[in-house]
Amino acid sequence: MVNKEKVEEAVRLLLEGIGEDCSREGLKETPMRVARMYEELMEGAEASAKEHLSKTFKVQDNQMILEKDITFYSVCEHHMMPFFGKIHIAYIPDGKVVGISKLVRTVEVYARRLQIQERLTAEIADAIMENLKPKGVMVMAQAEHMCMTMRGVKKPGSRTVTVVTRGAFEKDENLKMLFMNMVQQGE
Ligand code: ZN
Repeated sequence: MVNKEKVEEAVRLLLEGIGEDCSREGLKETPMRVARMYEELMEGAEASAKEHLSKTFKVQDNQMILEKDITFYSVCEHHMMPFFGKIHIAYIPDGKVVGISKLVRTVEVYARRLQIQERLTAEIADAIMENLKPKGVMVMAQAEHMCMTMRGVKKPGSRTVTVVTRGAFEKDENLKMLFMNMVQQGE
């Protein structure tokens, strides 16, 4: 749970620390605004993917399903700066599928908390494996990290790519290739 009073106090200290005057007009309500914002940005830490992924329906056909270009925004735990981009999720059902909106919700559960991109990618894959029990899952995240592109030598727009495979995707190179081709289509 976000303790808003603590966050407000911390933001006041941070402002002082960077040499600002907290009492000036533009900053008066900043601690409160930041605290409210954190409440929203961290709400995934309180949520559970299980709740979304347990609403399944039966299918006969067990072909690969790909949901690509799911936009996400997260916060890097090393710098507390945003990282954001696209997530692509593929899975091979074993008689059960979920609605697309549930995959989007699952991404939000893991994105709305302090994160690193590798863990975000893996947690989404593991939640799908655990709750949907498909034959396999593959998750790819492409993200721009503000902690890298806003400072230092990295060029704006440069992206970090992480990939996680579970089950059938781990051994089958053809499945991985199919995933990559489908993701790249229309780019
Ligand atoms: Zn960072």
